[in-house]
Amino acid sequence: MIPFLDLKSINSQYREELVEAATRVIDSGWYIQGTELGAFEKEFAEYCGTEYCVGVANGLDALTLTLRAWKEMGKIKEGDEVIVPANTYVASILAITENGLTPVLVEPDELTLNLFADGIEAALSPRTRVVLVVHLYGRLAPMSDIMALAKAHDLLVLEDSAQAHGAGINGKKAGNWGNASGFSFYPGKNLGALGDAGAVTTNDGDLAHAVRALGNYGSHKKYENVYQGVNSRLDEMQAALLRIKLRYLDVETLRRRQIALAYAQGIGNRAVQQPISADETMERLKCHAFHLYVVRSEQRNALQQHLQNAGVQTMIHYPIPPHQQKAYANWNQHRFPLTEAVHGKVLSLPISPVMTDAEVNVVIEAVNSFVNSNCTI
Ligand SMILES: *Cc1c(COP(=O)(O)O)cnc(C)c1O
Repeated sequence: MIPFLDLKSINSQYREELVEAATRVIDSGWYIQGTELGAFEKEFAEYCGTEYCVGVANGLDALTLTLRAWKEMGKIKEGDEVIVPANTYVASILAITENGLTPVLVEPDELTLNLFADGIEAALSPRTRVVLVVHLYGRLAPMSDIMALAKAHDLLVLEDSAQAHGAGINGKKAGNWGNASGFSFYPGKNLGALGDAGAVTTNDGDLAHAVRALGNYGSHKKYENVYQGVNSRLDEMQAALLRIKLRYLDVETLRRRQIALAYAQGIGNRAVQQPISADETMERLKCHAFHLYVVRSEQRNALQQHLQNAGVQTMIHYPIPPHQQKAYANWNQHRFPLTEAVHGKVLSLPISPVMTDAEVNVVIEAVNSFVNSNCTI
């Protein structure tokens, strides 16, 4: 069976260095807010091209604490509207509702499944204050257009870069386009810790300062509390391990792009719609980190079963859109036709930096041998 994502193989490539880093932390006697975190924050900010990076406990907290910090800074207030893609992972929306802000769900672009400037513009109201852009599946949203629109309407832009570490347009990376960005280092993300971790990147020093305090009981200085904060910190162990993983992120991302291009060129099945075209170049694919390679099919469930039978494990990202979740029962009657259709068609093929060419070919052959029973030629 070709596993969807083999974390054990990914991490065992770096076993010696990870053990060495873990040992260094164990022997240091210092486990929270020390030199490893400081070094990782500096290195990840440099990687993204931002001035600041603040480590937090996970990706959800990165988003939640950024919005909270903007409230504390007086930039937004409860009830303000936040535009967010209707087809995102639920965490993006949890960060909004947790802060008493109002999510405005917007249908994505049909092809890229990301927000786009015209779609955002159509959803603007006098109460819109923030656009939460999600680089879904690792593909950078059209940030030049979105930033221009945000500037024209005086909106804050928060990037959800949880799936897009290292994706960039003309060298400007995810996490360095908006006013701030949230990253997740959940083990299965492209830059994955060996536990939970996350970070906020920004070029706004006041925001970085506020987020850091909010994640540390609302305190900049021990026993002095400016805010009613929470405990959300990135610990020394995860920071030390992430520093190792960060060194290999670009090599891993390159491999993901190669696999994506191999899929795009190798898969030729009219029952399967691909996320990129076969004539993409590696240069143009730099805007995509390929956290996931998501195809669409009218016969998604049959395709998934067929691939399972052929020894290929797949997943669905995501089976139920946020507005149809029990947690958001007041939206269950709302209709988002594109989002709903997409959720019924998407299937994520295995893509990971440790996949061999032979495994990639097995996946391609398996997809190509799927016969669409709806086909009536
Ligand atoms: C993973 C993810 C998150 C949440 O990150 P955690 O570290 O799991 O809290 C948020 N948004 C998106 C798009 C994600 O994929």
